[in-house]
Amino acid sequence: MTSRRTFIKLMPLAGVAAAIAPSVFAAPAAVTETDPQAVSLGYKADTSKVDAAKFPKHTKDQKCGGCQLYQGKAGDASGPCPIFAGKVVSANGWCSAYVKKA
Ligand code: SF4
Repeated sequence: MTSRRTFIKLMPLAGVAAAIAPSVFAAPAAVTETDPQAVSLGYKADTSKVDAAKFPKHTKDQKCGGCQLYQGKAGDASGPCPIFAGKVVSANGWCSAYVKKA
């Protein structure tokens, strides 16, 4: 009896989980350059578009793919970065938190 009751109580939750699941497992969104965090860090999806006047130390060979914080696999077009939690950055991108991979 208890298990049947528990089952009945859990049924609506299972429905909710099923409704949420597709968005949870969908690929993370790419960081947009207009995202407030991206703007404050000067993030560009293309490292060659970085504002040289604002970031004079930036060089075009600095890319997310070569950054210590980048969590994508080598060869992937994009990957997660803890600076932009829950989103992915372009392997070819750059932001001012760049740290050259050791
Ligand atoms: Fe790219 Fe590194 Fe900036 Fe993350 S911290 S956005 S990987 S340059």
